Amino acid sequence: MRKSALLFLSVTVMGTIPSPVWAQQEEYPIIVVPTGEGPFTFPQGYQTPWDQIEIMVTEKMSPNLFVLHGSQGLDRGHPDASGGRVMVLFGPDGVLLVDTQNRQVADKTLAAIRTFTDGPIKVLVNSHVHSDHTGANAFFANQGALIFAQENLRLDMITPRRPGGPAPTRDPASVPVVTYRYDPTAPGEPAVTLNMNGETVDFIPMMPSHTGGDTVVRFRNANVIYIEDFYRNFGFPFAAQTSGGSIQGMIEAIDLFQTIAGPDTWLIPGHGTLIHREDLLPYRAMLVDIVTRVTARRDQGQSLEEVLAANLTAPYESQGDTQQSRDRFVRAVYAEVRDFPPIVNGRRAMP
Ligand SMILES: [Zn+2]
Repeated sequence: MRKSALLFLSVTVMGTIPSPVWAQQEEYPIIVVPTGEGPFTFPQGYQTPWDQIEIMVTEKMSPNLFVLHGSQGLDRGHPDASGGRVMVLFGPDGVLLVDTQNRQVADKTLAAIRTFTDGPIKVLVNSHVHSDHTGANAFFANQGALIFAQENLRLDMITPRRPGGPAPTRDPASVPVVTYRYDPTAPGEPAVTLNMNGETVDFIPMMPSHTGGDTVVRFRNANVIYIEDFYRNFGFPFAAQTSGGSIQGMIEAIDLFQTIAGPDTWLIPGHGTLIHREDLLPYRAMLVDIVTRVTARRDQGQSLEEVLAANLTAPYESQGDTQQSRDRFVRAVYAEVRDFPPIVNGRRAMP
């Protein structure tokens, strides 16, 4: 009863305000489709049904900066919303993309873009090498995109998985064309700045964190930064060490954000919900706590199995945490305490 009265009221108010005034009152971001909260369960042997996954506009960050993400509850790897977020800047200068989602949904990703712009696809920047972010690279390169990324990402893509093993069967069109490096003497400095569609866009190479080839992408006017996967709020932290990632680097990445983001800057993770820089702080505290505890135990001579059995992450458990994501996190911390291999050709030779 009360709900229908409110609905009637809001319709009446909308009807009395001239539309230009109404448009001015629109505030960003607009959350179009919230990410799923779960809980999600999948039967043994479940295979992701790519044909059922939809790619849609899930958030609008400004009048010409939209975010695409996939349906919830279908993708076992990312049940809260399938794949990794894609950002689309559009307008008279054409389309700039951050990441390309999974290869299997490339047509749907393009179709979602075509619901709001028919501009040419011009620029693509990859935040990191994982297939939920680069899977449709070749598809979008064939649409006309020039691909930018860190050099480490390109090397990780083209280097055979095992030394001397067969070269990856990847479409050469998927490999980044314009590359740059992270400069440890100037963290936070953009490697590339583009002026397009009334925006100024910075590609900021990151220290080895989620991988050894991460880039975050800042949209200065919208006051938005795509922060990819060094932070997550669904499941435990993931440093892809074989691709050069580092838990310690994730802590450094968070610290960098206290200077490159303002208090009101919207941060867009590859997965999970949108946040501000202050939301990174409890995550940092958790990382530091687990690193400290695991280091102490490894220094005492405890085996990986003993450290895993201690269940150090118990105080931090929340929705979306699986045994696999917990163990992967603790295993990564344990591996970093001692004899952590250097990055060579975008990879670490993890034992
Ligand atoms: Zn991701």
